[in-house]
Amino acid sequence: MPRREIFAGNWKMYKTLHEALDLVKGVLAGTSDIGGREVVVFPPSPWAKPVADLCRGTKISVGAQNMYFEREGAFTGEVSPLMVRDAGCRFILVGHSERRHVFGETDDNVNKKVAAAFQNDIEPMICVGELLEERERGLTGAVLKRQVEKALDGVSGDQMKKVVIAYEPVWAIGTGKVATPEMADEAHRHIRRIVKDRYGAGTAAALPVLYGGSVKPDNIAGLYAMENIDGVLVGGASLKADSFLDIIRVK
Ligand code: PEP
Repeated sequence: MPRREIFAGNWKMYKTLHEALDLVKGVLAGTSDIGGREVVVFPPSPWAKPVADLCRGTKISVGAQNMYFEREGAFTGEVSPLMVRDAGCRFILVGHSERRHVFGETDDNVNKKVAAAFQNDIEPMICVGELLEERERGLTGAVLKRQVEKALDGVSGDQMKKVVIAYEPVWAIGTGKVATPEMADEAHRHIRRIVKDRYGAGTAAALPVLYGGSVKPDNIAGLYAMENIDGVLVGGASLKADSFLDIIRVK
């Protein structure tokens, strides 16, 4: 069974409203003939609705970069799943390394956000990945196992059809150091094995696993050629329509 192919752009904390709309218009202009490939953009929260309004009925879906897991309440500064959904977002990025390592998000937070996403009909794109020190100590497999298992705690087999996992080695994000295609493929295979152990071979085979970490137009081809890499989550190179389109349109 062919897996979904997903090209996602994380705009992080960049772009004014005007720039965000220009960027998504540029991406829209180049995505009319991309066949079954799916494109997702994650604008900063205040721009989610205007970007989603422009993307309605197109090949581009919109996601939020973060949300809190409670539905509403006295949580100043937070955004609820209901608000994310109301803004027109289909996806939520959960467990991005900048959330984990700059803002101290735990595996438990990640799990609560995944549950909140499903309660509100939002599809989670769950990010996992090891620190450089963990890779050097041979802990990559154990870190991925812990992060994936904890994130998916309580997720049903049926809900797994809506889960996307992004493998993002922390040492490769925003650093210009990209994992080799073989390293990434091995990590993706490991993630699929973890999912297989819990949900069975069919679910694991259908799960889209994206690679993220310094993906650029000049390294996408090697990554995308790998059997277990079903797309990419792109930060820096998604901030310009031309470079994101070069990635989306990889042969
Ligand atoms: C990211 O933000 O998820 C990411 C992978 O960033 P970059 O492509 O800039 O490394």
